[in-house]
Amino acid sequence: MFINLSDVFLSAGRPLEVTCPIEMTEVQNGYETFSIIEKSDVKLTGTHKMRGKAHITGEAYVVVDMVCDRCLKPLPVRIDLSFERDVFSPEVDAGDETEDNLDIMQGYQLNVENLIFNEILMNWPMKVLCKADCKGICKMCGKDLNFGECGCDTFVPDPRMAVIKDIFNANKEV
Ligand SMILES: [Zn+2]
Ligand SMILES: [Zn+2]
Repeated sequence: MFINLSDVFLSAGRPLEVTCPIEMTEVQNGYETFSIIEKSDVKLTGTHKMRGKAHITGEAYVVVDMVCDRCLKPLPVRIDLSFERDVFSPEVDAGDETEDNLDIMQGYQLNVENLIFNEILMNWPMKVLCKADCKGICKMCGKDLNFGECGCDTFVPDPRMAVIKDIFNANKEV
């Protein structure tokens, strides 16, 4: 979806208010593609700041089909988007923001999909857990440890303990 900001760039007036759908059905994050299983419309407001410069604010949310980092259980994760940024018309020098601006502006048109895509990536959760104390899966047998122990011997001796044990054994031999 593209929104024409010509009027907003030109002069101060009533802010432009638009509600439009999010069209994308998946998000590609690095090498992985995630389905969007639910999404809101985007509520956007464009306010004139000066000739050729507008201030955009917006809100939306998407629910992305992820998996728990530890147990790999499918997990719908809601990402709330609430953003504001300046955009520039083609005849204005955007300075430091030129690159960002080119990403979401095509001429006088705001590229809503690109804007939303960027916002989703910026708000991507660092960690995805089905619950804070998810026990994950056993590295030996693959059992989901949230459903009980599997009985595998996953004991890894602490090297510091091994030293103490050596000393203990040495003393015993005397
Ligand atoms: Zn989990
Ligand atoms: Zn196991």
